[in-house]
Formats: sequence, structure tokens, C-alpha cells
Amino acid sequence: MGKIRIDYERYRVPDKGAFSLSSISPDDDQGIDKASARKRVKKNLDDLQGFQERLYAENKQSLLMVLQAMDTGGKDSTIRKVANDLNPQGCRVTGFKVPSAEELSHDFLWRVHDHAPPAGHIGIFNRSHYEDVLVVRVHNIAPQTLIEKRYRHINDFERLLHDHGTRVIKIMLHISKEFQLTRLRRRLERPDKHWKFNPSDLKERKLWPRYMEAYEAMLNRCSTEYAPWFVIPAEQRWFRDLVVSDLLVDTLQRMDPQYPEPAFDVREFPPESLK
Ligand code: ATP
Ligand code: MG
Repeated sequence: MGKIRIDYERYRVPDKGAFSLSSISPDDDQGIDKASARKRVKKNLDDLQGFQERLYAENKQSLLMVLQAMDTGGKDSTIRKVANDLNPQGCRVTGFKVPSAEELSHDFLWRVHDHAPPAGHIGIFNRSHYEDVLVVRVHNIAPQTLIEKRYRHINDFERLLHDHGTRVIKIMLHISKEFQLTRLRRRLERPDKHWKFNPSDLKERKLWPRYMEAYEAMLNRCSTEYAPWFVIPAEQRWFRDLVVSDLLVDTLQRMDPQYPEPAFDVREFPPESLK
């Protein structure tokens, strides 16, 4: 098997200049064949395990992956895939739902900060603080002037995490409105998928163009060099897994976590001397 290199940089939202969602095709697969992609994903998951152990042992840096998508975009299955082989002790997945009354009585980042991954950990956000500039913008839950300020609050917050030693990568799983229709139909066709169907998803679906506009606005405002956004084609699930796992492996490789030096003189403890 030749080594497949995925060019995920083409999905990075630049920190300067205008970005348009139409520049990325949701069913792109870079012409890669599925069987070799699967093999590579398997290898990536093995590598991730190794990196996670070193990250945990080093206990200095952490990694946060933020996932956003329209309904049926595949957030849950992406998490299942990439986190499946991780050690649960060093990994925490947090889902963000409609805020509670208490959460709403605080600033919008209050409920988020508590879930930022501590040193040595990998954190995954299934939805995130970005809901406060997406659904909130689409439904006018907060005034536009406040949402404008939130882009900056988010950038400052993520810089704080970055300066603290947390690598932040943000992924939008990109699907088309037509693709969503096929997934919603499937949820109704299959009894074992009924639990995933929520009639209110149809209401959100009607607002598709407004959502895309809100996504584009935040991608343009909040993709930074220290916490970049990637818009990843997500209609071919196997391709999505490949891009996401490649991105995670490369990020951890660059973080280069190291086992700590032992706090004792190893020469003083030859293994055979133990009784
Ligand atoms: P998902 O749709 O993420 O797979 P789910 O269907 O199990 O999860 P939902 O009850 O749909 O759970 O929870 C997510 C809902 O909460 C979404 O509609 C999302 O827009 C909404 N939400 C999340 N954060 C906020 C927020 N800050 N303000 C308003 N709504 C929010
Ligand atoms: Mg939902």
C-alpha cells in the first residue's frame, strides 16, 4: 500500500481574506480509493493512541477538537470513530445543548471554559461556544451588536487556551442541503434511527441559507492562526474519517509530547534487583 497523503490544508479557512463555503465541495474525496483510505485511518487511530499516551504522561499540553455541523452532518459518528481507541481516562467529550436557565444567567463562555481539556487530555466538543454565534444569530436570540462582540470574545478565549498550552482545532463537517434530506429520510425509514429524528430539525432545515450565512460569518471572523477552522467534506464518511484522523495525528505530531524524565536514577534500580 502506498502512503496516502491527504491535503487537508485546502480545507483550512485562511485567517485573512474572504472565505466562501462554496469553495469546498461537500462530496470531495480527492479521488482517493476507499479501501486504502480505511487502512490509513486504522493506522492513524493506532498512532493517535500512542500520541495520547505520551500527551498524558507528559502532562503539560492538551488538545481541543471543536466539532460543528448542521443536523445529520455526522458529529456523533466522527467522535465514535476517532475517539473509539482512545484511553477514556485522558479524553473527555462534551456536548452542548440548549443552555439551562443558570447557564443563561452567565456570560456565554461560562459553561464552556469548565470543559476545556486539562493538561495531558484530549477534549472534544460536540457543538460548542460557536452555537452562540450560529443558532443564536439565525434565530435572533441575541442582538446582532452582541453577536458582533462575541466573535472577538471567542478569539480572545481561544487565545487564552492556546497560551495556556491547549492546541485548538475546529472542524465544520460540511454537507449539502440535499445530502441532509437523504439522511433525514433514512432516519424515518429505519426504526433503529427514529430516536435520532427530531421534528424540529425540519424547522432548522428551512433556515438552511441563514445557517450558511452565519457559518460563513463566523468562519471568516474566527479562523485564526492559533485556532484554525477546517471545513471538511463530510458526505463521504470514510473520507471524512481520513481527513479528521490525519489532521489529529499531524497536530499531535507537531505538539510532540514527550515522556517525562524519571524522577529517580534508573541505574539504581536494575529490574532484576527487585524482590
Ligand atoms: P445533535 O443535534 O447535536 O446531534 P441532539 O439532537 O441529541 O444533538 P439537541 O437537543 O438537538 O440534541 O441539542 C442540540 C441543540 O441545542 C441544537 O439545536 C443546538 O442548536 C442547541 N444549542 C446548543 N447550544 C446552544 C446555545 N448556546 N443557544 C441556543 N441553542 C443552543
Ligand atoms: Mg439534534
